Amino acid sequence: MRFNTGREDSHSKEAFYKSQEVIPGGVNSPVRAFSSVGLTPVFALSAQGAHVTDIDGNEFIDYIGSWGPLILGHAHPEIVHTIQKVAILGTSFGLPTEIETKLARQICDSISTVDMVRMVNSGTEATMSALRLARGYTKRQKIVKFQGGYHGHADALLIKSGSGVATLGLPDSPGVPESVTADTITLPYNNLDSVRTAFEQFGDQIAAIIVEPVAGNMGVVPPLPGFLQGLRETTSRYGSLLIFDEVMTGYRVDYHGAQGLYEIEPDLTCLGKIIGGGLPVGAYGGKHQIMKQIAPAGPIYQAGTLAGNPLAMSAGYKTLQLLSESTIYDELERKSAKLAEGFEKNSLNLGVPLKVNRVGSMLTAFFSELDVMDYESAKQSNKQLFQKYYAAMLDFGILMPPSPYEVMFVSAAHSDEDIEYTIQSHYKALKKIVE
Ligand code: PLP
Repeated sequence: MRFNTGREDSHSKEAFYKSQEVIPGGVNSPVRAFSSVGLTPVFALSAQGAHVTDIDGNEFIDYIGSWGPLILGHAHPEIVHTIQKVAILGTSFGLPTEIETKLARQICDSISTVDMVRMVNSGTEATMSALRLARGYTKRQKIVKFQGGYHGHADALLIKSGSGVATLGLPDSPGVPESVTADTITLPYNNLDSVRTAFEQFGDQIAAIIVEPVAGNMGVVPPLPGFLQGLRETTSRYGSLLIFDEVMTGYRVDYHGAQGLYEIEPDLTCLGKIIGGGLPVGAYGGKHQIMKQIAPAGPIYQAGTLAGNPLAMSAGYKTLQLLSESTIYDELERKSAKLAEGFEKNSLNLGVPLKVNRVGSMLTAFFSELDVMDYESAKQSNKQLFQKYYAAMLDFGILMPPSPYEVMFVSAAHSDEDIEYTIQSHYKALKKIVE
């Protein structure tokens, strides 16, 4: 393979120096700063399939995948062609277009609990709007979220959120008013007893539980058997709504979402990432009865200048079509299982404790002897070891999310050779850090 050890990064260093003069922290989303791995960010130049090239000319096998959207790989020829074709006709109208209905129809046909869907521009907007809807619909104030669950950066949800926030060690963010978070109850993930206790105390005031059905923002943490079912039963009993935040898991763990995989029916579903095919998008949907409360059909206000943007809608529609027509999920499962098994074998052979959590093509390898099933156990993993490992992997040409609390995303574009090379690099990286 052509990936060289000993990476040149002078151009990335210079670019980072310049970006910090005009962009806070030099980046437009905190985790991109690579601060939790103590490195200079890799500045991207281009990408094709599973490979990213940076501005220093290094080529990497990429497991960031733009943080989830690129399930088909970078610059997929059919997606690029679609975007080009649509762009010539106009990039935004502020009028309804037919492609919005086509994508909405495709989503309703594939996610069984979604009868109607509203398009927005990001996952953050989707969860924020779904909460407003849940509160307006139930006429209740309180919401429940889980520790280590990230649902975007809306005020009410920015409490004990994982990944970026955990990586930076911010408990909450300054600027979030206490009056806004006072109605947010935060509970440990995978712990039904705490959910039941909270509902015994506040049940008639709780508008909704919002949950990542497979947690991805404290690293991958699958739901324990019965957890999602328990959330469904508890919310139904108390007349609260169950919101699945499938911004990451939607069309990732299964074409029918995590709700299809685990056969649980939420009241509302938030989507993003994959449904934009690599362009900015978000969406929230659910049953007619609830969705018809949104303006202009109903009184609950929500709007967006660029919502339903034709480029994003077309890229998303093409992506979902390609996903629906292929055996991609079987292939993703096979390749991701091979990667996980390779990592586990390396850790056993070298005596480095590693817990590999995986659901489909979402994978996190925690440097831990403990099972990782919630935020507390995720935080017990060894961050120093991760830092050293990360640097070594990068030098071998493997680009992963730069945080111990993030997900490696395998895409349809990863070849068996890519996976094999990654496993070999993993072995060498582990060997290097324990020597
Ligand atoms: N919800 C989940 C589960 C996410 O993983 C993310 C982003 O990573 C969001 C919401 C927020 O999405 P966005 O970054 O598009 O605002």
